[in-house]
Amino acid sequence: MASTNIPTVSLNNGTSIPQLGFGVYQVPPEETERAVSTAFEVGYRHIDTAQMYGNERGVGQAIKASGIARDELFITTKLNNGFHRPDDAKRSFDQSLADLGLDTVDLFLIHWPLPTRYDGDYVSTWRALADLASDGRAAAIGVSNFQPDHLKRITDETGVVPAVNQIEVHPYLTNEAARTASLDLGIAVEAWSPIAQGAVLDDPVLVELAEKYGKTTAQVTLRWHVERGDIIFPKSVTPQRVKENFEIFDFALTSDEVDRVSGLDKGEEGRTGPNPDTFDYIPG
Ligand code: NAD
Repeated sequence: MASTNIPTVSLNNGTSIPQLGFGVYQVPPEETERAVSTAFEVGYRHIDTAQMYGNERGVGQAIKASGIARDELFITTKLNNGFHRPDDAKRSFDQSLADLGLDTVDLFLIHWPLPTRYDGDYVSTWRALADLASDGRAAAIGVSNFQPDHLKRITDETGVVPAVNQIEVHPYLTNEAARTASLDLGIAVEAWSPIAQGAVLDDPVLVELAEKYGKTTAQVTLRWHVERGDIIFPKSVTPQRVKENFEIFDFALTSDEVDRVSGLDKGEEGRTGPNPDTFDYIPG
């Protein structure tokens, strides 16, 4: 088994999370067990799934087949958009545990704030997650795609501060407002689509740095996230890339190089996913 010497980030609930994990968005259910098993073989111990991805069972099968001790794994899942009512949130959480074959998850997130749905009430959803944390079945709870005003509202109204905010961050969307608002509240930042689903990989600045370090542009981009302290979980179903994305701890960018990559930010134009202020999708 490969080395699992991955840096960790401390969370505000006293636990810690491996800074590099493996994301399974868009991994088809029937391929998930194989993809996650490959990631475990490479050395990943942190898996990021979601109810909406439809592949929690495959993640659970890979966990079971791996024989890896539960306390060596960090498993995150997320509440589906159709289950924001507190009772639905709790019921769907039970289903996630059953599908994953686990007694607890390490992190449970509200996937999207949906400010235009549920009469704008994501606060009672957040209270439901706080109950799951109190009874110990979610070791940590957090949010995803929360804008600064969403973070302020849930913390002001409940006093419960999320452990993480999982938001779109990559060199073309550095998302500084949401990132800074999170960090200022002691919330760790998880950067989703860390390589912008491939959109940044031909950028001349990244190509230049990749040549300098003898790395790929994907590795340089992932290393940039690591230097900035964010948590990442790139996705690939190609074993060679799963391995490549893991090999980012044997080189470092200078602080000037980190700033240069941050300077590639295109603001809203760089966004690859939906805007959290208007996204209102509920699966049928
Ligand atoms: P990503 O930035 O990780 O890019 C994945 C794509 O890039 C792959 O499909 C593959 O085509 C390509 N790729 C991966 N490694 C490569 C390499 N080394 N070289 C060349 N190409 C490579 O995008 P993502 O999957 O959208 O994001 C990662 C994870 O973030 C997801 O799997 C999921 O866990 C999470 N996520 C969360 C949200 C959210 O709303 N919370 C949204 C999107 C993604």
